[in-house]
Amino acid sequence: MNFFGFTLRKLRDKFAELDENPAKADIVYRGVYKDVARGFGGFGFAERTAVRLAELFSFELPEVVEKRESADAAKLLLKLKDGEFVETVLMRQCFGNCVCVSTQVGCNMGCKFCQSGQMKKRRNLDVDEIVGQVVAISREFSCKIDGVSVMGIGEPFDNFQNVADFISIMSEDKGLAIGRRHVTVSTCGIVPRIYEYAELEEPCSLAISLHAPNDDLRTSLMPINKKYPISEVLKAAEYYTQRTCHRVALEYILLDNVNDFDECAVQLAGLIGGRDFYVNLIPYNSTDVDFCKPDADKLANFCKILKEHGVIATKRREFGADLKAACGQLRADYGKDD
Ligand code: SAH
Repeated sequence: MNFFGFTLRKLRDKFAELDENPAKADIVYRGVYKDVARGFGGFGFAERTAVRLAELFSFELPEVVEKRESADAAKLLLKLKDGEFVETVLMRQCFGNCVCVSTQVGCNMGCKFCQSGQMKKRRNLDVDEIVGQVVAISREFSCKIDGVSVMGIGEPFDNFQNVADFISIMSEDKGLAIGRRHVTVSTCGIVPRIYEYAELEEPCSLAISLHAPNDDLRTSLMPINKKYPISEVLKAAEYYTQRTCHRVALEYILLDNVNDFDECAVQLAGLIGGRDFYVNLIPYNSTDVDFCKPDADKLANFCKILKEHGVIATKRREFGADLKAACGQLRADYGKDD
């Protein structure tokens, strides 16, 4: 059993099952996540107990095989226990350090503009492998983590239960205690899971990859739209906002001469129709795939039209493009050329 796979509640239950005092689970949890303890020593366990626990639990993290760093970003290539690879990114934001984690090896969503989906899903990541990315980054770069985005390789809502446990571990007061507004899950719009996410005991922030203002265009970019069209996605997002009081971010990648026309902005504002969403405009990061990034004037103009129509819109700061660590550039296929 890997320690990093346990929410605090599950660890307490496990301790109880082992006839250990469940309250001790809280102390170990705090020690590992806050003080970086690497095992069961130093918590006042009888020696026999410490040995028994050490035999049962491992504290193994994914293996760091490559590390790249620039002024405001860093990227780790990690090798998982079965030899698969994933990437994890650290962004030094104005509010603090934010880690972008992967949730699957490959991805089945097939979004046309995304490098990460070029390799089909091979498997879901286990909870300890998702948590392990955050712990590995924090140890590798000796930094405190203030925010987490579930926006790396994979579709988080296609690995729902593990992602739910992951966010519970991130926001646990006795652990990393990352504020819930600073833990964001991004989905391409798997509608039933948006409703399920709204019902979690501790829902965090939600971002939805919209990327187009009408179904025809969205279906041509994101095949998932055939199953869950825009109206259903936005209805679920509205429910989420009402249930949790978290405002939803609609992500919109600007692709030159594809979805960046003035009428797209007007149509997008019409879709939002005064609902409590905000739009996060993402300049397209170049990949092997055939799309271009619009120039800065087009982006500013798109943003202006949204604002004129009463929509709150922000432009996402670009991180890590020099490290091939930006949105959509992460890869899981390390057999191929970088
Ligand atoms: N599967 C999830 C999370 C992974 S992608 C989702 O679809 O939301 C995280 C974000 O980066 C998504 O909004 C995705 O559409 C966007 N993205 C993918 N490729 C990109 C690229 N080349 N440039 C900019 N953003 C990209």
